[in-house]
Amino acid sequence: MNTQPLPTHPFVAFPNGVDLLHDPLLNKGTAFSEEERLSLRLCGLLPPRVLTQEQQAARIMENFYKKPTMLEKYIFMVSLQDRNETLFYHTVINHLEEMMPIIYTPTVGQACQEYGHIYRRPRGLYISSQDRGRVADILHNWPYEDVRVIVVTDGERILGLGDLGANGMGIPVGKLSLYTACAGINPAYTLPITLDVGTNNETLLNDPLYIGLPQRRLRGQAYDDLIEEFVTAVQARFPRALIQFEDFGNSNAFRLLKKYRDRACTFNDDVQGTAAVTLAGLYTALRLTHNRLSDHTFLFLGAGEAGIGIGDLIVSALIEEGLTPEAARQKCWFVDSQGLVVKSRENLAEHKLPYAHDYPFLPDLAAAVAALRPTALIGVSGQGQTFTQPIVAKMAQLNEKPIILALSNPTSKAECTAEEAYRWSDGRAIYASGSPFDPVTFNGQTFIPGQGNNSYIFPGVGLSVVACGSRHVTDEMFMAAAKTLASTVTPQELAQGRIYPALTRIREVSAVIAAAVGQVAYEQGLAAVPKPDDLLAHMQAQMYEPVYQSYV
Ligand code: NAD
Repeated sequence: MNTQPLPTHPFVAFPNGVDLLHDPLLNKGTAFSEEERLSLRLCGLLPPRVLTQEQQAARIMENFYKKPTMLEKYIFMVSLQDRNETLFYHTVINHLEEMMPIIYTPTVGQACQEYGHIYRRPRGLYISSQDRGRVADILHNWPYEDVRVIVVTDGERILGLGDLGANGMGIPVGKLSLYTACAGINPAYTLPITLDVGTNNETLLNDPLYIGLPQRRLRGQAYDDLIEEFVTAVQARFPRALIQFEDFGNSNAFRLLKKYRDRACTFNDDVQGTAAVTLAGLYTALRLTHNRLSDHTFLFLGAGEAGIGIGDLIVSALIEEGLTPEAARQKCWFVDSQGLVVKSRENLAEHKLPYAHDYPFLPDLAAAVAALRPTALIGVSGQGQTFTQPIVAKMAQLNEKPIILALSNPTSKAECTAEEAYRWSDGRAIYASGSPFDPVTFNGQTFIPGQGNNSYIFPGVGLSVVACGSRHVTDEMFMAAAKTLASTVTPQELAQGRIYPALTRIREVSAVIAAAVGQVAYEQGLAAVPKPDDLLAHMQAQMYEPVYQSYV
């Protein structure tokens, strides 16, 4: 049911045909009825035959399949989004499994790398380091008044691809598409923002078609001042907006999260969303290993935003199981680019210190697997092919059901493929990846690898914040989201090797997660909306459905 009001828009009250056709939120293209064409002065501006939304969608899919590459499909779908958002979401939702790898990882990564070369139309807001002192004015240029969800990046760590500067805009655009497709956030409530603070990527700096300022990254106080001005201006202009920080470099991500989490309604998806989706996968895996989280030893490859975020949430979960914080941290071990994170190492970044155990230094992952005998390997290093055959085979030797999570994105950065994990573990691995992999048949059994994709978590969290008017996003909300996501995996899905529910069920799952997160918001006294009797029904009623509305 589509109960969200239409966006405030001058053309609804005083329609002018051409403007209406050019507004992606309101345009229906060839689906405008005869009556609408007459009263909205559209006659002659469209081919005479009126099509249904289904007929339009069939044309979209016919063209989609004709596009020869993933990037061409991406360009085609984004162009549709820029023309007709209702049809875009109708198509995406009805073909979610095919569309997610196009509008998000892995294709969005390639799109960001080539953003200046495939650029068609602006979408969202760009705020650059030259805009210091006038950020509020720029926010006022956004034509929609009631923004509820902002995804903002400074482009420093786009997926596992590194610094892509202003080209990172593909990420906020794609993430917000997922908020709408996966949890029904009205697209009129969403605003993608890129903070162009320069780039240190030489290829981009030398590319005449790069869309950002061709200058090096802003650092230090000037950077912090711009972020401060941005957050303050958002709070004044869009007081109900959730600000999701996305793909910032880890030197800024942890700092900014700490600085703003109690001052604004904000979270960092790379840290907290990743943590929740991974913990959910681990909770589901316990249904296959038949033990408790505290029976496991977790070894991470990569000790950045994703790794430490996951570690911290696992620690909270272990404390819930009765461990002391110290004992809980002892269950989590990290290997970074220099080797095992241990106490004797000098100059460790602050976020790694809680996991720097008193243990002899080991130079690499293989040595750490042999010495620590982990039950779960979690890959968040952005380094492809690092879970090698000997490492996976060793995990299978140590464990009846080794947990292998190769979470680095995009596909080329996955620590190992699904096929490798199953083959090298003799079909015993409990596997999930960050980017999607096709089903694998091994020894007569077909496995459907789960995708440990944050889009199982952040859309539901966002829906909850919008529907309950939550003032903050807390760790307890991510814990509730993780448990709830795990609870949605059916026995049939588990039997196929999935530790996440099928993507086709994601809207149903997002609503259940939103209800669980909303429950926490009410318990913590953070919700502004009076508590509804039935939280799940409340969430479902808020969800945008991409069906055309009549204008006459
Ligand atoms: P980050 O830059 O904050 O951290 C990367 C970490 O990897 C650092 O600790 C670095 O020292 C370590 N590293 C680099 N090279 C290494 C090597 N050769 N061996 C061991 N460690 C090495 O990045 P992040 O935000 O933590 O993201 C890391 C990866 O995780 C990215 O590929 C990202 O796409 C992926 N990720 C996936 C999901 C998901 O699928 N749900 C969510 C978030 C991040």
